[in-house]
Amino acid sequence: MPYLSRRAAFGTMAAIPAAAAAVFATDDALAQGAAQDGAAQPAQQPATLQQAPGFYRMKVGDMLVTRINDGQFTRPKPTEGFVRNAKPEEVAAALKESYLPAEALTIPLTFMAVQGGGRTVVIDTGTGGGMMPTANAGAPNMEAAGIDPASVDTVVISHFHGDHIGGLTGPDGKARFTKAEILVPEAEWAFWMDEGQMSRAPEGMKGSFQLVRDRFGAYPQERIRRYAPGADVAPGIRALASPGHTPGHTVYAVTSGQQQLMVLSDTSNHPALFVRNPGWHAIFDMDPVQAEETRRRLFDRVAADRMMVVGYHFPFPGVGYIGQRGRGYEFHPAQWSSSL
Ligand SMILES: [Zn+2]
Repeated sequence: MPYLSRRAAFGTMAAIPAAAAAVFATDDALAQGAAQDGAAQPAQQPATLQQAPGFYRMKVGDMLVTRINDGQFTRPKPTEGFVRNAKPEEVAAALKESYLPAEALTIPLTFMAVQGGGRTVVIDTGTGGGMMPTANAGAPNMEAAGIDPASVDTVVISHFHGDHIGGLTGPDGKARFTKAEILVPEAEWAFWMDEGQMSRAPEGMKGSFQLVRDRFGAYPQERIRRYAPGADVAPGIRALASPGHTPGHTVYAVTSGQQQLMVLSDTSNHPALFVRNPGWHAIFDMDPVQAEETRRRLFDRVAADRMMVVGYHFPFPGVGYIGQRGRGYEFHPAQWSSSL
């Protein structure tokens, strides 16, 4: 403001919003004047920067869907060993195309609640902590969304990986969902609970088998129910077999009125890699060829039907559409809505 005297500048400041005033306050006197006008002093930057609570609400027909963020994993060097059947330079190119760094990939985790007809259903549970310090936000975010675990009627589990079943218990190892029925895919239960599978598993996987026993062991066995592919796990929520990622991996069609949502679970890990390149095999897919068949079949369906989808490891809130693009697909995030 080269042509304004200081006095004139102060006079003008009164009419400028505080944030704008702070931008203009280039010397001490001006900064002091802004403070007297009620503007905030430059903030001290806290040691750890956190976002506001991460949950996102949307409607599917009459049902209220709440996406609950559990934080994120960081995968160092995603170009090496993360995709089994792509060259490092191909993975680097895919990351670059999506403006993602090649040094480390952030993999978000988001589970969800579905409420309607007086019932609260939770699909998957987050890590429950203990996997990575940055992935332990599920419980506070659920609380912030006003959903009390003690009020949950049904917990539906898509598959038995630790980032999906970990949140069944709290840090004390006790059941978090104190009255809910716990619904699990029967093929998943059969695989992970098999003592032969556990004893034959490589050393590095034995911990996963133990985690399954610890988490489900915290619940009275009569509250755990196994469901078959095609079953309705709750009114309006149908389980669809989608094996490959794990033997009993399951996705869900949530239907209410004319609207439908496909809950893709771990059909794809980060969409920049595995939606764009459905033929790529993530290191976590237990049967990668079957996982690819499942992925292509589901993506063809949701693309043809223009069906809304959610993905567990998609950028938060992970809601959008999958359309065909070239020889692969592309994830299109749905527009954020400030109200329902
Ligand atoms: Zn997962």
